[in-house]
Amino acid sequence: MNFYKVLFPIAVKDGFIYSSDVEIEIGSRVLVPFRGKHKIGVVWDKASESRQYEIKPVLDVPDKKPVIDTELKKTVEFIARYYLTFIGLVLKSALPKRIFEVYSAIDLTEENSTFLNFSREHNLNQEQQYVYHNINQNEFGVNLIFGVTGSGKTEVYMRVMEDVLKKGKKCVVLVPEIVLTPQYIDVFSKRFSSDILSIVHSRLTPKKRFENWLNFKKGKTRILIGTRSAVFSDFENIGVVVVDEENDESYKQENEPRYNAKDVAIFRAKQHNIPVILCSATPTLESYHKAANGKFKLFRLKNRIKNIPLPSVDIVETNKSDFLPDYTIEKIEDTLKQKKTVAILVNRRGFSNYLVCADCGYLFVCPNCSVSLTYHKKSNDLKCHWCEASYDIPSVCPKCGSADIMNRGVGSQQVEEMLKRTFPKHDIERFDRDSVLTKKEFERIVGKLQEGKIDILIGTQMLSKGHDISKIGLVVVASLEELFGVPDFRAREKALSLVIQTAGRSGRAEPGSVIVQTVSKESELIRYIKTHNYEDFLKEELKNRMLLRYPPFKRVIRIIVESTNQNRSQETADKIARLIKDELDILGPAKCPVYKLRNKYRYHILVKTSEILKATGLIDKKVREFKEKVHFDVDPISFF
Ligand SMILES: [Zn+2]
Ligand SMILES: [Zn+2]
Repeated sequence: MNFYKVLFPIAVKDGFIYSSDVEIEIGSRVLVPFRGKHKIGVVWDKASESRQYEIKPVLDVPDKKPVIDTELKKTVEFIARYYLTFIGLVLKSALPKRIFEVYSAIDLTEENSTFLNFSREHNLNQEQQYVYHNINQNEFGVNLIFGVTGSGKTEVYMRVMEDVLKKGKKCVVLVPEIVLTPQYIDVFSKRFSSDILSIVHSRLTPKKRFENWLNFKKGKTRILIGTRSAVFSDFENIGVVVVDEENDESYKQENEPRYNAKDVAIFRAKQHNIPVILCSATPTLESYHKAANGKFKLFRLKNRIKNIPLPSVDIVETNKSDFLPDYTIEKIEDTLKQKKTVAILVNRRGFSNYLVCADCGYLFVCPNCSVSLTYHKKSNDLKCHWCEASYDIPSVCPKCGSADIMNRGVGSQQVEEMLKRTFPKHDIERFDRDSVLTKKEFERIVGKLQEGKIDILIGTQMLSKGHDISKIGLVVVASLEELFGVPDFRAREKALSLVIQTAGRSGRAEPGSVIVQTVSKESELIRYIKTHNYEDFLKEELKNRMLLRYPPFKRVIRIIVESTNQNRSQETADKIARLIKDELDILGPAKCPVYKLRNKYRYHILVKTSEILKATGLIDKKVREFKEKVHFDVDPISFF
């Protein structure tokens, strides 16, 4: 008799033991009795007989081959351990849903597609050639292509993909959000034959998703383009993994399991000894730091391919009451007259109030945590959402001594209302996560945009995503301070990246212009925006992060406690803090910036560490008894 541990795609930390007369290969699907039903699971390990309970037999093994190989199994185990999450949930993310739902044999026989069709549009310029020739295709290595918007990063990695395909191997390309995929599919099907493309994203039907997964696994398709979860596709016979727009926040999953697809891609590529290509116009500080240290290979593309200059940037000061100064309004009018679209960039969440010096643009930050303080009108004070400290409103600015201090916080809704009042006859649309909910709605807006039917487009991060919208003649950043006045140690990085990426959208085909509105021309970040010099910013920001012991110099683990009961949420957070504070460097507990979410009250604790696995191990051990109410976010990106 053989015994096996079988894993199910549910919130469990371990598998369940079953017996079998025949030997079963690890990674195979099996049908077993589970909680009074027949359920499909995956054979995870061999097990020894346990006498504690009656062991049930495996009922059937439907497929001839395993659905999961040794390497992917190892990856799933690594993710569960590293991100302090349930291995069953990682398994659920790693395979298409249908695998566990439809009990019929999966034919995993290899099929080899050979037809390759390359239609190159342009030759590589010198910079691109240098990068292409210096990416080592034969072994593991992380290559960071740091190139200005429009510098032809895609063409470079497509050349590498071409080589990989010629060798009979396959490629995986991770792309940010689903909103981008139509455009990518277009680019890739034009370049390579669409017969060899598989696409994976969350909007596919389960059936289609399964088919695409299977075709790629069998080798019927050779290129897989997909969002985050595509990182779990079959890596057998892969020649390269590309992570496009590597700075994009959507690579991090914001619910269980909270993994980062970029890091998982690197982990897997290492197992397979193949190169990874990361691309961005604004790489993350973490990636840049690794590149500067020689852990990644850094490649710069400093020129735009069609030699179109980067857009000129106008810095416009706003005052207390005027969110749309005359200069901006005139520029908007001019652009509309030319029948071009105006894009207004606002912050995703307009709830955050902050205090800012009207003279020098200084933003008040917590001395303990170095994150923006939130202004509370009711108590007329400043609160830190990381360490719970509160501060009186200072009478003068600590940077320039001015007494002209004001509180700000203008949301996208207010800007929209103002624009509607000012331009009543024009077509104004909003385009962000909160307003674009359905696929239909999204397609309607994108369709209108492509036809040039939108006059003014108000949006958030979505505007910065790869949309090549040549119709956009002017980009207005409604409030620079609003972008970085949020409690997050990456606030400056995220704000500048957003502005530079959005500016890059303007004038891809011809020079466009950009207006950045700010309370003061002395404000932080302005000089980097004017020169489009992201690298200088990264160098400067690295010094701050080192001083404050934030990533990339330390790692962060965020512990979130949620409860429908206010007191219980705080009590649990306090208890956890007491349990770990002697051994770990912590901030908080404090109320989360979004304190009440889906009827639950939320507290968080931030752990800073240089030994991540030791810290997660310790937290796992000490905080086990609270599990139901506690979420862990290792290497968090969002702090709301
Ligand atoms: Zn000041
Ligand atoms: Zn603080």
